[in-house]
Amino acid sequence: MNTLSITVDIEDWYHIPSVTGSPFAVYKDVNEFFEKWKGRYDYLSLREPTKRVLDMLDEYDINATFFVVADVVDHYPGLVESIVERGHEVGCHGLHHACKK
Ligand SMILES: [Zn+2]
Repeated sequence: MNTLSITVDIEDWYHIPSVTGSPFAVYKDVNEFFEKWKGRYDYLSLREPTKRVLDMLDEYDINATFFVVADVVDHYPGLVESIVERGHEVGCHGLHHACKK
């Protein structure tokens, strides 16, 4: 029997260090990002890619651990539940994906 360990990061594009949460980011943190982007952000960008990954894992009968940035839970209702319902483990990938300064 072979063992395969797969982990998947679930984070949105505004979590990358050049946008928020690092000393060289455009925005100081996620809260400042949403002060500027409130009402302009559609919260759709993670749904389809996550579904594609889940479908691919089903196709090969593989269970994975999904490390989810905690604020994704607030912004994408039902997304984490869809991961758990398909038999995968969920881990916390920090509250806002902030890098240490
Ligand atoms: Zn990450």
